[in-house]
Amino acid sequence: MRPRPQEHTRWGRDHPREGWFDVRELEPGVHLIGEPGHVNSFLIQGASSAVLLDTGLGVADIRSVAEELTDRRLLVVNSHYHFDHTGGNGLFEDVAIHRAGADLLQRPPPDGMAAGYMEYTRRLLEAWGPYKAADDLYFHLLTVERLVRPLPRGFDPAAYRIIPTVASRLLDDGDVLDLGGRRLRILHTPGHSPDCICVLDEENGLLFGGDTINTGPIYAHLPESDLAGFAQSTRRLAQLEAGVRRVFVCHFLRVENEPRLLGEIAEGFERLLAGDVDMRDNVDCLDFPVREACFDHFSIFVPAV
Ligand SMILES: [Zn+2]
Repeated sequence: MRPRPQEHTRWGRDHPREGWFDVRELEPGVHLIGEPGHVNSFLIQGASSAVLLDTGLGVADIRSVAEELTDRRLLVVNSHYHFDHTGGNGLFEDVAIHRAGADLLQRPPPDGMAAGYMEYTRRLLEAWGPYKAADDLYFHLLTVERLVRPLPRGFDPAAYRIIPTVASRLLDDGDVLDLGGRRLRILHTPGHSPDCICVLDEENGLLFGGDTINTGPIYAHLPESDLAGFAQSTRRLAQLEAGVRRVFVCHFLRVENEPRLLGEIAEGFERLLAGDVDMRDNVDCLDFPVREACFDHFSIFVPAV
């Protein structure tokens, strides 16, 4: 293994960490390559090869980060085709996605999506300053794992583009990727988008929840989202609860979760379908109005109308 990527550290009040990626070993052979406040990717290593689960926003070079952590052969696996999980795909030769995402990954993004996300990034960084200041004074929740970072030096948000890519390999439900001493099972969990997968490392009790399991808002309001399918997928994941030790998620600042989150989310979808929830108005990251069903450790966005 090569040395850890250099962390730019400057103990400024708002940004005590400046390196774009939050790189941490979560347990032996599993690294978080996070973009805090945005999206989390994971490097999962076996004895003979490694999987990079998602490639992030593409605002910084995730391949060089992954290659500093492993010299094993790298296969990228996309949790689904959305740009915030596939932005670095173009840096890699070997990219796998669920069969249902193959065409979606190649399509140009909707107009304004890249600019809209950069505008969200601007708002997020603007909100971070007062949030961090209040935390320093009153709340003290912001440990090193939860520090939002400024955009990388030299990165121009106006030049950010979402580039469609082509997968080299298609995945189906039940496929097993054998990395040598570690086997990853692909679970097709449609709902957020038709091609969503979760990745299960059964022997080690790890579940990677993609955009199906999340903390904070779970996006079930997109035109391609399917609420009934989402409920079915989360019910299936809840059945894994007893055999799983840790659940890792792709969004927001609570990356690591207890397995009971799986049952809570399945129950949340059931209650939502039954109309047994408190709803409030909110907006998603692109500032579209949504209705939000609120639960103890997460929420679910549904269409505003
Ligand atoms: Zn998504």
